[in-house]
Amino acid sequence: MGKEKFFWADYIADRIIKEKGNKKEYVCASGITPSGTIHIGNFREVITTDLVVRALKDRGKKVRFIYSWDDYDRFRKVPKNIKKEYEKYIGMPLSEIPSPFGDGSYAEHFEKEFENSLKKVGIEPEFIRQSIMNKKCKYAKLIKLAIEKREEIMEVLNKYRKEPLSKNWFPLTVYCEKCKKDSTKVLEANEYIVEYECECGYKGKVDFSKKGTVKAPWRVDWPLRWKYEKVDFEPGGIDHSTPGGSFTTGKEIVKKVFDYEAPMYQLYEWVRIKGGTEFSSSKGNVTTLNDVEEVYEPEVLRYLFVGTRPNKGFQISFDNDVIKIYEDFDALEKKYYDKKANAQEKRIYELSRLKVSKKKPARIGFRHLITIVQSGKMKELKGEVKQRAEKVKNWLEKYAGEDMKFEVQEKVKVKLNKKEKEALINLREVLKEKDYDEKELFNKFYEICKNVDISNKDFFEVAYRVIINKKKGPRLAGLILDIGKDKIIKLLNQIE
Ligand SMILES: [Zn+2]
Repeated sequence: MGKEKFFWADYIADRIIKEKGNKKEYVCASGITPSGTIHIGNFREVITTDLVVRALKDRGKKVRFIYSWDDYDRFRKVPKNIKKEYEKYIGMPLSEIPSPFGDGSYAEHFEKEFENSLKKVGIEPEFIRQSIMNKKCKYAKLIKLAIEKREEIMEVLNKYRKEPLSKNWFPLTVYCEKCKKDSTKVLEANEYIVEYECECGYKGKVDFSKKGTVKAPWRVDWPLRWKYEKVDFEPGGIDHSTPGGSFTTGKEIVKKVFDYEAPMYQLYEWVRIKGGTEFSSSKGNVTTLNDVEEVYEPEVLRYLFVGTRPNKGFQISFDNDVIKIYEDFDALEKKYYDKKANAQEKRIYELSRLKVSKKKPARIGFRHLITIVQSGKMKELKGEVKQRAEKVKNWLEKYAGEDMKFEVQEKVKVKLNKKEKEALINLREVLKEKDYDEKELFNKFYEICKNVDISNKDFFEVAYRVIINKKKGPRLAGLILDIGKDKIIKLLNQIE
């Protein structure tokens, strides 16, 4: 951020229009292989596309946002959270394996999980299941073209390979009709007919314009689909972005073989989980979009990603930093509605919101809600405030530091000396007098200390011990008001 004049997604949108020309409709793409639980790193790709889509729409353009589920890819390895017996499915398409959780196919299970989470942050692209596309033989013509131009493809790929591809190489992945696995070798390919043999012993001939068991391998499949969908923009992770990586070869193949210009590309860096490794928590579990949604409300979650350029890495925190992130968001929101935000801040705010409302939404700060939630007053909250309180509750249960947690006491369990008793009785009488705001009440504390001749430190400490059974806590006056003075009076009435 900082010095740049334009917000990054606006800059990309302008470049797409400039490079691709004025089109009736622009196609922005994103996608992934659902090989297991989809981690938060993959969300970065989707939101990068989403923001460019929104920037194009803000320029009055029509946009198609497609999300490819590459679920006709092979099952490569059994993830940690899946039973070992699944080894027997290695080599089969992900869409053809049963879900370990009993709901549809293996691919579907993880796809649905992620699609549901995406919806919550306002992202609803057009999902394309490659298993369906392939089974319907949608790419047959382009696969045939790839076979015809296989030498051009090999030439591109060999430039970046140590060992050149064998002369008998075909740009094909064939799933065996008998064992369903891709442990096949192509013997001959002509027009739409592929002859192959499989490690299982099966030998067959398939017409891939009629039967979708033949697909292109990744490095050919990606550019093939750019052509098919007429993609104008697609981001990619650093694994695809290295020199000689699949974007480099895809760019050459799409032009030479499919006569199409590669989409505009944006590299995105990984995100890390603070205190963990890439995408994983310190416990080694994969962190999902849903995990982040439990603690961050949709617009604050979007704000995390919107505010960082895609080519810069960043960390997602679950510790006490969460409070600061919410405070930053609230401050930006205030600036926006006070009309004090600069151009860059304005865009970051607008694109963080699911929809910008005319009026500033009602908010209560995260820190304040920590007290409200623990004072048992959550039921009284409504709308956006209630939504945020739910996140605070989840955060307190799973991630908050001990210093943030407390329990409001029903009984006075602390042994008090004479002065402490006197001070607390004094406090009780002060509370009975009238209703206070936080500042008024705070000033009263000093009067009490003076009257009773107790040090401020001792007074605050004993008050916290009696009210929340801790030596420290949130600001005392605010705490008392949040809990409700009647409840505090009732508690202090137990002191004689
Ligand atoms: Zn076989």
